[in-house]
Amino acid sequence: MDFVPLRFPTVDEQRDLFYPTAYVDHAGDDWNCGSITYDGHQGSDFGVGSWSGMEEGREVVAAANGIVVDVHDGEYDRCTGESADCSGYGNYVFLRHADGRYSFYGHMSTDSVSVSLGDFVACGEPLGMAGSSGHSTGPHLHFEVREPDWSVVEPFAGRCGADQTSWNEQGEYDSTPATTCPSYPGCEAVTTLSCGDTWTGRSDDPGSTDNIAWYGCTEGTEEGNEMSFAFATDRDEPVRVSVTGLGDDLDLFLMPGTACDGQACLASSVESNAAPEHMEFDATAGEIYTLMVDGYGGGASAFTLAVECEGALPQADDTGESDSSKPRPSPRAQAEATTPGADCGCASTPRRAWTSCLVLAILRRARPCRISTIR
Ligand SMILES: [Zn+2]
Repeated sequence: MDFVPLRFPTVDEQRDLFYPTAYVDHAGDDWNCGSITYDGHQGSDFGVGSWSGMEEGREVVAAANGIVVDVHDGEYDRCTGESADCSGYGNYVFLRHADGRYSFYGHMSTDSVSVSLGDFVACGEPLGMAGSSGHSTGPHLHFEVREPDWSVVEPFAGRCGADQTSWNEQGEYDSTPATTCPSYPGCEAVTTLSCGDTWTGRSDDPGSTDNIAWYGCTEGTEEGNEMSFAFATDRDEPVRVSVTGLGDDLDLFLMPGTACDGQACLASSVESNAAPEHMEFDATAGEIYTLMVDGYGGGASAFTLAVECEGALPQADDTGESDSSKPRPSPRAQAEATTPGADCGCASTPRRAWTSCLVLAILRRARPCRISTIR
């Protein structure tokens, strides 16, 4: 995923009540080499039917899942030009998306903004109502897309515009794109881990992905390859996760479920450089979590991911879900089931690890082996 495609940011029923009044400026041309733009315009303006349209109410919704990174409300919203009360973008919302891109919604009506700084919003969730606050000559939505490095994105593909559209369905020139939210790819977990498992490898090994991703946890966008792991336990219990043995800056993120959609982040560990990463969280029995190890600033490195807790992978009758949503038994669990004397789960690991595993198992007088390598 280079970027998350966008829906047109209003509700389905109102899509036809919006219409383009000024696209992004490309030296006097709009994206279709037409003239629906003005000098220096960095966003796409959509009219809403003038003052009567604004009074009827024109909803503005999130163009994709994201988090609110800036928000402002309370400005006068009947502006017809620039003045002391009518400057900038007036009432606005700024979202950051899972791909690190931003979307911006400006000139909204007074006290209509319904989200707060730091909120997670789903694609299509209400942000506010279109208005004419700020430096605006009449009611419209100023919609703008930015790259993680803050450069302006032309969302429309065309002869004078972008090579690739940023919309889920761009639609015709001089009309509005579709209001269909994109489907998000899963995190493509390389394996499923449970308590006592470790995984050793490189963050750019086969099975990794190279999305420019942002997990909703931190300011930084992770530009290196990332390796995704599913995790589940059959107990409600605290879980300790560590990433060690680093030669470069890898960070650790925890998300609910299996989506990498910037929609929620439960925890993160973002130590700088090659410092090890540690996190603890309270797992709910039967829930699937995503553990993501991602390179910061293009970083790639060997690492060992270790998960410490007491439970095991949930079995088929632990939850009421269908079989297809279950985590698969890990190789460790399978080895335990089939190898005589493999109580500590180390039968398939190298002899040295197997020996220390036995020692550990004796010391702990406990079942789980803490050393097992799943590749
Ligand atoms: Zn504008």
